[in-house]
Amino acid sequence: MNIEKIKTDLLIIGGGTAGCYAAITAAARNSGKSQDLKILIVEKANIKRSGCLAAGVNALNAYITEGRTPKDYVEYAKKDADGIVREDLLYSISEKFNEVTAHLEKLGLVILKDKDGKYVTRGNRNIKINGENIKPILAAAVAKLPFVQVLNHVNVIDFSVHDNRIDGAFGFGIENGTFYAIEAKAVIIATGGAAGLYRPNNPGFSRHKMWYPPFNTGAGYAMGIRHGAEMTTFEMRFIALRCKDTIAPTGTLAQGVGAKQVNSLGEVYETKYGISTSERVYGTVAENLAGRGPCYLRTKGISAVQEESLLKAYLNMAPSQTIRWLENETPSKANVEIEGTEPYIVGGHTASGYWVDTKRATTIEGLYAAGDVAGGCPQKYVTGALAEGEIAAKSAVEYINAVDCRTPLQGARNDVDANSREDVDAKATIKEAEIARHVAEIETYLSQKNSLYTTEQLEEAMQIAMDEYAGGIKAGYGYSEKHLNIAKEKIDEIESLTDKLSAADLQEVMYIYELKERLTVCKSVIAHLKARHETRWHSFAENLDYPEKDNANFRKYVNSRLENGEIKIILRDLTAEGQKNYEHQH
Ligand SMILES: Cc1cc2nc3c(=O)[nH]c(=O)nc-3n(C[C@H](O)[C@H](O)[C@H](O)COP(=O)(O)OP(=O)(O)OC[C@H]3O[C@@H](n4cnc5c(N)ncnc54)[C@H](O)[C@@H]3O)c2cc1C
Repeated sequence: MNIEKIKTDLLIIGGGTAGCYAAITAAARNSGKSQDLKILIVEKANIKRSGCLAAGVNALNAYITEGRTPKDYVEYAKKDADGIVREDLLYSISEKFNEVTAHLEKLGLVILKDKDGKYVTRGNRNIKINGENIKPILAAAVAKLPFVQVLNHVNVIDFSVHDNRIDGAFGFGIENGTFYAIEAKAVIIATGGAAGLYRPNNPGFSRHKMWYPPFNTGAGYAMGIRHGAEMTTFEMRFIALRCKDTIAPTGTLAQGVGAKQVNSLGEVYETKYGISTSERVYGTVAENLAGRGPCYLRTKGISAVQEESLLKAYLNMAPSQTIRWLENETPSKANVEIEGTEPYIVGGHTASGYWVDTKRATTIEGLYAAGDVAGGCPQKYVTGALAEGEIAAKSAVEYINAVDCRTPLQGARNDVDANSREDVDAKATIKEAEIARHVAEIETYLSQKNSLYTTEQLEEAMQIAMDEYAGGIKAGYGYSEKHLNIAKEKIDEIESLTDKLSAADLQEVMYIYELKERLTVCKSVIAHLKARHETRWHSFAENLDYPEKDNANFRKYVNSRLENGEIKIILRDLTAEGQKNYEHQH
């Protein structure tokens, strides 16, 4: 492979929602002079249409509407997660929702307005947008920034970390055959969550017809886990309630036209099980198991105006649902059948991800996390990801300035003095041996032949193991310790086979790395599910050994850290009610 070495100040891995906004924020301090901050975004796809926003969205799910306050939002998210959230993180994003929304509008996003010029709301936390082009808008804003470089189609596979301090990352160009060794003073990880760990709703040819982007494979989680970063709440999986087959979102039906969840007898069952995100899925599973399925969202009889608005809204975010309605019966004539998806790990909806402080510093020095990859802060959505991108960028710039001045870091989580900081600096450059090791690994995949299994076969084996033994769709999302032990055994076995995989080109090499990332995340998910001895969130973490909630022992964060190859579980006390600041103390 060609080897290219790049030096930058701030490296942003993942040019999605949070990554693009982090670049926009960090570059705002640049003035077009040579001493300006050099910023590099490295993206495995193309930032114009990558990540969660690739296909567009039709609402900003997190906004402080008239008469509401950030505290209301914090309370809502806290209630939905039954208390297991970091209030400091939630406050810091809620206070920024409206500001980042105004910025998006300025960049060109169309936000629907009523006759008085006020944003059109959907429920009391959402506003409606014409968001098909939201990602190209962000990408265009990035393209205009001075001293910001974007490397598209480069898949990042590892961090460079020395003495628990990050100094860069490694990746390879999927299309140009170049290996990149990137040195940076600070790094923001913004690679989104993890899809494809579990067997999806639709098999075979349609297996990538899933809710979460199939290309967000948990790379950021996996890189952090392997380098010993502390992670949180992987057991709070996210399972989406979706329109059957198309896996289109249901919020627009529930909130937009007030559609209730009904069983095949026409009975409204959401009142029986609750309406938190996890309860909506749980109720649907329970009704099916009781023989009262299939389950639906009741849309029959909605008005012509409501129907038209639904057809249009779905065109903006899940066109296959609109096409399905047009091919079959439209929503005013037939209720919409619903089902739960396979579980995802996604810190923008639930709370899984890096354990960060309020500044979004991870426990690896110099590494910041934003968006779905960052934990502790559910219900982030688009505006929360933007807010976290902004917070992470400001913190990273502050860190870079401190490192440049060789002064002790203000407010950072370590207590290294100025001299020892220089020692760390001297050591912290990417080593030739590390580059050679990564290149050799890639070249091995490209050159070895006759692998017993293909990457796809191992991926499928992983998904089956997770589905059956770690609470997937087939298991009604439930699991016991015995199941999880089998899942761990199987995932270890599959992982041991990955070294022998072969690839015809770099696209296939990327699939191998994606599989390995998923396997690393699977192991953390299994360890976390096993550690929480209670059922706090039905369906998200349905522990059949402990079917009740245990407030006495588990009003805690379940965190983990890889130590000597083993996942060590750490139970941490909840931060105090109303706490707005949290610093790492370990
Ligand atoms: C289908 C769908 C619909 C949604 N609808 C709404 C909605 O209507 N309203 C709302 O407010 N929120 C919505 N959300 C949630 C919201 O879009 C996300 O929470 C938010 O965009 C996440 O931002 P992010 O930056 O963390 O991840 P992303 O925007 O997904 O960015 C991650 C980026 O990292 C890149 N990447 C991944 N791995 C690597 C690697 N190894 N190397 C380099 N790059 C890598 C990816 O390609 C991607 O570009 C929706 C989410 C989904 C999936």
